[in-house]
Amino acid sequence: MSLLIDRIGELFTADPQLGVLRDAAVVAEGDTIAWIGPSAEAPEADERFDARGRAAVPGFVDSHTHLVFAGDRSAEFSARMSGEPYTGGGIRTTVAATRSATDAELQFAAAAHLGEMVRQGTTTVEIKSGYGLTVADEARLLRIARQCTAETTFLGAHIVPDGADPDEYTALVCGPMLEACAPYAKWIDVFCERGSFDGDQARAVLTAGAKAGLGLRVHANQLTAGPGVRLAVELGAASVDHCTHLTDADVDALANGRTVATLLPGAEFSTRSPYPDARRLLDAGVTVALATDCNPGSSYTSSMAFCIALAVREMGMTPAEALIAATAGSAAALRRSDIGRVAIGARADLVVLEAPSYVHLAYRPGTPLVRAVVHGGNPLQLKRSN
Ligand SMILES: [Zn+2]
Repeated sequence: MSLLIDRIGELFTADPQLGVLRDAAVVAEGDTIAWIGPSAEAPEADERFDARGRAAVPGFVDSHTHLVFAGDRSAEFSARMSGEPYTGGGIRTTVAATRSATDAELQFAAAAHLGEMVRQGTTTVEIKSGYGLTVADEARLLRIARQCTAETTFLGAHIVPDGADPDEYTALVCGPMLEACAPYAKWIDVFCERGSFDGDQARAVLTAGAKAGLGLRVHANQLTAGPGVRLAVELGAASVDHCTHLTDADVDALANGRTVATLLPGAEFSTRSPYPDARRLLDAGVTVALATDCNPGSSYTSSMAFCIALAVREMGMTPAEALIAATAGSAAALRRSDIGRVAIGARADLVVLEAPSYVHLAYRPGTPLVRAVVHGGNPLQLKRSN
């Protein structure tokens, strides 16, 4: 099946060669973009969507989520907003709720969150485990995550469970837990932070994951400047996520390495913490990604547009830089070049906005601007009565 989207007033491709096109059209053949050009020259297709001058952007890539969980932590959020500081201990609440949920309950909740995301223009999602923290529960969460996405991440090293010895738990993560989880995981991740896993423990987890054939991702430098960012770069991780507290040496390492810095401003918003300095990273030449960190404790948003708005308002990014970070940048954080941009040969993932320009994503925060989503060439929620 082929699909023509024509009369796109402004097409933001996130592709360095194509840039921003006016009065453009895109043709998808199956799940792939086959043609891009002036709307007046567009070929015929089986189906047509008339964008009527609206803007179109690549589908968002949310490269950092914790979507498989149970329970609600709105009381914790409310307490925090009333002046209680965030320490990260609330993860244990979600672990308890998740362990006692059935597979069906977890699947239903994950599917509901995924639906929420796609309606907001997200066409690729990464999902981590990390609320099981036993061999059986971590493997169970990854099995469920694998039904939702190919981008699954084993995060047994999220926190040390209550009563466990940190070194013994690290050995469990690197041994039997990794063995049980690797068949369902593409990536391995570790929360390298004071109170979670130190540099040596994080190195052990990442090294074991690489040996098992998994790609590397790291949670680092969220609460304090620690060894995580430099470790991620040294070990060739695809992405190091949070990057809120960085030393000059961290920025230099990122600028000279291949590791993407993924910023998660939903976490700073939800914990009322200082935002990462995206400008400093961009000026140093670092590839920056944006993602939601969607999780019930520290960042319960599924909206990439909200993260774009925060990045522009609070982190020194231009609207174009923030949108590139949320599409091509997040794709790079997953080491993918087939998504996150509108280009011939890329996957046909596009969002038509109820707006004349992509700038509205930051200019009109909190507004439902998604008019239509094309996901792998399939038109979703295309309203026929234009
Ligand atoms: Zn996270």
